[in-house]
Amino acid sequence: MRVLVVEDEPDLRRQLVRAMQEAGYAVDSAADGEEAAFLGETEPYDAIVLDLGLPKIDGVTVLKGWRAGGRTAPVLILTARDRWSEKVEGFDAGADDYLTKPFHVEELLARVRALMRRAAGHASSALECGDLRVDTRASRASVAGEAIKLTSHEYKVLAYLMHHQGRVVPRTELTEHIYDQDFDRDSNTIEVFIGRLRRKIGSERISTERGLGYRLIDPNQGPAG
Ligand code: CA
Repeated sequence: MRVLVVEDEPDLRRQLVRAMQEAGYAVDSAADGEEAAFLGETEPYDAIVLDLGLPKIDGVTVLKGWRAGGRTAPVLILTARDRWSEKVEGFDAGADDYLTKPFHVEELLARVRALMRRAAGHASSALECGDLRVDTRASRASVAGEAIKLTSHEYKVLAYLMHHQGRVVPRTELTEHIYDQDFDRDSNTIEVFIGRLRRKIGSERISTERGLGYRLIDPNQGPAG
């Protein structure tokens, strides 16, 4: 899953980026409204954390621009304490959730997990496909109760497929959601990650749909849905 962190305060921005990376997300960041507007319009994020008080273009205007342009990624806004009118404006502009500064990073991570899950139509923080399970809280996977050791890229690929089980995920889409913008992307490496994942979780669990992409399968049920 890929997230955008928009925050102009350098220390907080770095802290949030690090926490999101440690949680297993591909992370891009922006320090002002102009950069944020551009990234949100051009890159496909699974969630966006948006500070409202920003240089160049304020957060509410940025958010309105994304929504007017048809960008539907869930957005969590960060607001200053005692600025209730900001929250109202933010929700009216298309925000999905908010946190008031100062906040605990753990709470932010929990809210972002919930937003992503709901956007993908899942109710629980543990994603399941048959006896394959991904715990998005701990960034861990297991098969039939046995923990599977995954590299961070393997986890990113599996987590994205789990969020989108029930449909074929094109390779290009997978590429866009597991790498941040600075990464030297090569869609061929996706095949390598898929190959390693198959060896770890069982090759029958990921089908290759020729020319289309990959689909997660519950081996006891056929294609997941
Ligand atoms: Ca700010």
